[in-house]
Amino acid sequence: MSIAEHINQINASLPKHVTLVAVSKTKPNNDILEAYNAGQRIFGENKVQELSTKYESLPKDIEWHMIGHLQSNKVKYIAPFVSLIHGVDSFKLLKEIDKRAGQNNRTINCLLQVHIATEETKFGFSPEEITELLSSEAFRELKNVRVTGLMGMATFTENEAQIRQEFEGLHQLYTTLQTQHPQLNTLSMGMSGDYPIAVEAGSTMVRVGSSIFGERNYH
Ligand SMILES: *Cc1c(COP(=O)(O)O)cnc(C)c1O
Repeated sequence: MSIAEHINQINASLPKHVTLVAVSKTKPNNDILEAYNAGQRIFGENKVQELSTKYESLPKDIEWHMIGHLQSNKVKYIAPFVSLIHGVDSFKLLKEIDKRAGQNNRTINCLLQVHIATEETKFGFSPEEITELLSSEAFRELKNVRVTGLMGMATFTENEAQIRQEFEGLHQLYTTLQTQHPQLNTLSMGMSGDYPIAVEAGSTMVRVGSSIFGERNYH
């Protein structure tokens, strides 16, 4: 199947309230344009340099999402154009995004990354830290970032029951927080291998790469 066919098939399988982010990291502009010509407008990248280069050379009505780990010292490069940052994993990073957004006269939407996997290596806040952050005075002082939701990655495992449990736990946290923070409207969870489970567990945004563009080649 072609890239366009993959996009159409995945979109047809997603409920209306679920947004598809096409993860185009490592893929050439031609592949992105094929998805674009099939109607896709939201693309996700995980490297600042690659994201900036693609932003410069591709159509300006693309919404670019930063989905990877973001270092504070690189925020300035994407602050002028990025439309959503998925992986905010520290208050220091959130403060830096606020500062750079202000310098660009913008408000940048962000998702807080929650650590839901059992692996030690995944970045993110604990549920307690998120709850605390959202009600802190220091957070209320940030005027140029808008926290619109949460993002999480399940453990890399074949165990579907475990993946489902992790996604359901994140969804539970999301709905609990919504009662206090009605601005939360995005729950980013689910990738090529697990997005159907994530959608069943309440995801509103899936980040799908290899099922659209094919396997990545990292040579
Ligand atoms: C690469 C990546 C994805 C997409 O992964 P696929 O398995 O190719 O769908 C989703 N989310 C994040 C954070 C990623 O880095």
